[in-house]
This record gives sequence, C-alpha cells and structure tokens, in this order.
Amino acid sequence: MEREMFKAICSECKKECEIPFNPTEGRPVKCDDCFRKGRYDNRFNDERRERRDFHVVCAECGRATTVPFKPTQGKPVLCRDCFKGK
Ligand SMILES: [Zn+2]
Ligand SMILES: [Zn+2]
Repeated sequence: MEREMFKAICSECKKECEIPFNPTEGRPVKCDDCFRKGRYDNRFNDERRERRDFHVVCAECGRATTVPFKPTQGKPVLCRDCFKGK
C-alpha cells in the first residue's frame, strides 16, 4: 500500500514539498533537502559542543579540570594553573 502524501510548505526554503504525515498547524515542516541539511547541521553542532570542555585530571596536581581540546591518550594534561606555572 502506498503511503498518503500531504502537501506542505517547507519552513526553511518555502518550497512546496510532500511529506508522509499530515502537517500540524504551527509545527515547522521541512522538505527532504532541508531535513537532511538540518541533520547535518545538528551533527556539526554536536561535534563542536563535544570539542569544548573535556573532563580530565591534571597530571601535576591531580585536580579535576576541563580542557577545550580532546586529551591525547598517554599524554599528561595540566590544569590552567599548572600550565601557567611551567
Ligand atoms: Zn526546504
Ligand atoms: Zn594542576
């Protein structure tokens, strides 16, 4: 059985598109292109968010701290204070 398609206007590019569900009033609808683009953007944002603030333990003073980069395995990580003191 074929799925019923509903006509809708994409909230991103304003293009007319067909979606497999009845568009709900007030809920943004995205065409295939924008939906895929959005997924890509979200993944990009996730990676960016992940890149910030890695929880590590300072190799010098043993304090828990965060660094803005992914610590390399086996390489000692220093907190800001110890890093400045070097
Ligand atoms: Zn679109
Ligand atoms: Zn330290």
